[in-house]
Amino acid sequence: MSAQILDGKKISAEVREELKPRIAYLSERGCQPGVAVVLVGDDPASQIYVRNKEKACEKLGIYSIQHRLPADTSQEEVIELVNSLNENERIHGILVQLPLPSHIREKEVLYHISPDKDVDGFHPYNLGRLMIGDPIFLPCTPWGVQELLLRYNLSPEGKNVVIVGRSNIVGKPLSMMLVQKGKGANATVSVCHTGTRNLSSYTKMADILIAACGSPHLITQDMVREEAVVVDVGINRVGDKTVGDVDFERVKEVASYISPVPGGVGPMTIAMLMANTVKAAERALQRKTA
Ligand code: NAP
Repeated sequence: MSAQILDGKKISAEVREELKPRIAYLSERGCQPGVAVVLVGDDPASQIYVRNKEKACEKLGIYSIQHRLPADTSQEEVIELVNSLNENERIHGILVQLPLPSHIREKEVLYHISPDKDVDGFHPYNLGRLMIGDPIFLPCTPWGVQELLLRYNLSPEGKNVVIVGRSNIVGKPLSMMLVQKGKGANATVSVCHTGTRNLSSYTKMADILIAACGSPHLITQDMVREEAVVVDVGINRVGDKTVGDVDFERVKEVASYISPVPGGVGPMTIAMLMANTVKAAERALQRKTA
């Protein structure tokens, strides 16, 4: 039996479609959602991600501006730019594309983004709100994973969820989201990492297995329970191919549902970014009219 595909392209198109009336409402009131993207250096993968975000904005009628800075831009200059974007009323969301060049401390830059414009959801204020179950902006990739599951009626409630990866942008916030007491969450969550002994003893217990480790095809068929739901967050270049963290061809023979790479979590991440930008503009309009 072959698993059903968790089609991120299709679901992300639905999410984007649902944003259109909200964007129209805002634009009619002189508050067209706007986002600024800051890209430092010329990392080829980052260039592609930024271009995809620009295209998504264009299609939805979200205003976007790009700041492409040379790789030797100083940390102070990047922070100065972020500060000016914090003050810019035309801009509701600020995206600093990661990774930044090694001479810049990412945290320093991210901490300067106003939490009200933090549409990536990486600011400690927003991560703290997420942890206590009162979020404003959810980080886009974890939110995209949750939304993908929910729209296939695969609620994590009461399920054993195993996440492989504990990064601050995927694994940790996703674990915090899914462990919350509430609808669409309420799961028992295990988070695995390079310190985990006997990784497959955990992955085999998963009703929902989420791979976010950046290691091509780490998750093999023998690590997956029959009928498990498998979500692959990984994006890895192997030769001229983009592959996930899951051995898709073999794992799809045992899983009940599986997300492909590309076409799974990637498009969901961009859709949730658009959703956060619209939310940021709605909150700005509310503040103005309050
Ligand atoms: P990251 O910061 O490199 O973190 C990787 C995590 O996986 C770490 O916690 C690491 O453990 C763990 N890990 C790595 N190898 C492992 C192994 N062999 N066994 C167990 N754990 C292992 O990566 P990230 O930023 O979270 O991204 C993860 C993947 O998702 C990457 O492929 C990235 O390109 C992709 N990604 C995709 C999207 C999207 O939109 N689809 C968005 C963001 C990221 P330690 O903490 O012990 O080192």
